[in-house]
Amino acid sequence: MNVKKLVLGQLQVNTYIIKSRGECLVVDPGECIGEKVARLGCRRIVIAVTHGHFDHTQGVDCLKKEGAILAAHPLEPRVAMESAALARSWGLEARIQESQPDLILVDGETLSVGGLVFRVMHTPGHSPDHIILYTEDPPLALVGDLIFMDGIGRVDLPGSSPLEMVRSIERVKDVLDPRTRLLPGHGPETSMGRELEWNPFLRDPGLILGP
Ligand SMILES: [Zn+2]
Ligand SMILES: [Zn+2]
Repeated sequence: MNVKKLVLGQLQVNTYIIKSRGECLVVDPGECIGEKVARLGCRRIVIAVTHGHFDHTQGVDCLKKEGAILAAHPLEPRVAMESAALARSWGLEARIQESQPDLILVDGETLSVGGLVFRVMHTPGHSPDHIILYTEDPPLALVGDLIFMDGIGRVDLPGSSPLEMVRSIERVKDVLDPRTRLLPGHGPETSMGRELEWNPFLRDPGLILGP
């Protein structure tokens, strides 16, 4: 699987482009990258958003103008709007997403791009609309702001829930094989096996609830 990573925007989000059989999956476009994607000559472009936080969605509307379709959880547009408003109140520049999802991704759904079939798991906690996309062959997961190398996504933002985060982490531990490549929304790539061994919040999800 050919995975290209770009680090984009004020919050340095990881945007992933996966091209397969002439079709392209763009995960969490952090900036307008229409031209970059156009140069890849994709027959079909699917944008998948792990969650609506503004840093992960700034490039959605531009790519839609290039003919891409948007795949996201049904709560994503609301989270995107609230997140952009919050970012603006912090003095950051944040475009408000106008697009609505063309493909609705809920737990248990699959997303097919260029012959690759990604499974969808709803993983709320960091945000109510958070999903991960994963394949078993090869074992790979796009985990957004659920898991980072040595850490997890914040659970103190509006819409966050530490208790849901514990449940989501427990579920991911049950489902993803340790060999799974983890492609997070920020920071370096890691693997499920490495995080099971070293990440304190995977070793003991109870820590997420605080002392
Ligand atoms: Zn986030
Ligand atoms: Zn983020």
